[in-house]
Amino acid sequence: MKGRTYTVDAEPGDDVTVAGWVHEVRDLGGIAFLILRDKTGKIQIKLEEDSMDADLVETGLNVSRESVVTVSGSVKEEPRAPTDVEILPESIEVLAESDTQLPLDPSGKVDAELSTRLDNRTLDLRKEEVKAIFEIRAEVLRAAREAFRDLGCTEINTPKIVATGTEGGTELFPITYFGEEAFMNQSPQLFKQLMVGSGLERVFEIGPIFRAEEHNTPRHLNEATSIDFESAFVDHTEAMDACEHVVKSAYEGVAENCERQLELLGLDEEFEVPDGEFPRLTYEEAIERINATGELDEQLVWGDDLPTEGERALGEDVGEHYFITDWPSEIKPFYIKDHDDDEQLSTGFDMMHPRMELVSGGQREHRYDELVAGFEQQGLDPDQFEYYTKMFKYGMPPHAGWGLGGERLVMTMLGLENIREAVLFPRDRQRLSP
Ligand code: ATP
Ligand code: MN
Repeated sequence: MKGRTYTVDAEPGDDVTVAGWVHEVRDLGGIAFLILRDKTGKIQIKLEEDSMDADLVETGLNVSRESVVTVSGSVKEEPRAPTDVEILPESIEVLAESDTQLPLDPSGKVDAELSTRLDNRTLDLRKEEVKAIFEIRAEVLRAAREAFRDLGCTEINTPKIVATGTEGGTELFPITYFGEEAFMNQSPQLFKQLMVGSGLERVFEIGPIFRAEEHNTPRHLNEATSIDFESAFVDHTEAMDACEHVVKSAYEGVAENCERQLELLGLDEEFEVPDGEFPRLTYEEAIERINATGELDEQLVWGDDLPTEGERALGEDVGEHYFITDWPSEIKPFYIKDHDDDEQLSTGFDMMHPRMELVSGGQREHRYDELVAGFEQQGLDPDQFEYYTKMFKYGMPPHAGWGLGGERLVMTMLGLENIREAVLFPRDRQRLSP
């Protein structure tokens, strides 16, 4: 809209046209205030019966909440107004009238269930603290991209419709592709690995992953955003360094550029950019520490996957982001390389927030024969993955990488209870629209 001024920029003495939503109209008899809201904030519009055009006052008094209006007028200083200024209007134009019955109250005075909020996301995001989450999410992705650029990565996009899954069939969504069965990709794993053997060497991707997760939990989505890194000529420890850099950069970006949003979420005091190196615990140390907390009914033994309560107990114990390294090979995927001196021990790692897992990664198996054997051990048919294994015959460098859950990063950063709060339109067992 040409000539539009954002409410935040309206200064006393200016003649402006502002545009936005009617937040509320307060009629005090003879004088009334229309509060207009736009993406930058709110501004008071004064309506005075005695001194203003009767039609204009009438329009302002009768417009329903959440209608879209433009207001032209002069900005005056007014210490009693919420933002210390108000507009004396010369014209008010209603661009889109809102029904008076709203499924959700954008002023936030009436609380709504998460499901009602998700059904009415447009209205939900008129609340500034909800909008703040998505502005922060955008900053997280921007800062991550910049961090990847620091690391010399090229951004890639890989297919989401695929012929085979990465890690077996259980979590795959099947689709029909010109009469053939195909799947929604659960991870860019194989494609990003193929790119480290290309001329690109070091890549990242931010894109959707699709997982037919069996359970409804507060930290699983059926469509999530994966932040993936993969690089030639690095080992798992260097991949962990890169992971730390990206996660810290995301926090730094938010601390620097989202002060207002953090304040709206009540986090401005407590928000901390992680400093220092993330502690690196081996799997063996991790299970010992979990056992020592006494939180589990049964003691963990070597080879057990870490149960959710175990992760939580350890997270409380460690109290900051940390890595778990040196997992038993048998509970890490086949494409992860074992330690050269101990084939029971994998170079796989997880990066944890005290509340949950954020990242899985590792050094990859780049030797053709070992890779093909890995498929067989996993019960997968190597022929189906020939498009992938074949390239390991033509000079595939040693490489490592990881995948970071974008929504989990935002969720843990902001202390959100439910991962769905970090997605505009979440996909879960109950939710396929909007
Ligand atoms: P979990 O054990 O917590 O279900 P995972 O080990 O199956 O996760 P990975 O395959 O390691 O997940 O994927 C890498 C990262 O992607 C995870 O650490 C997590 O941050 C994110 N992620 C994976 N699945 C989901 C999902 N269903 N919803 C949201 N994020 C996910
Ligand atoms: Mn994992």
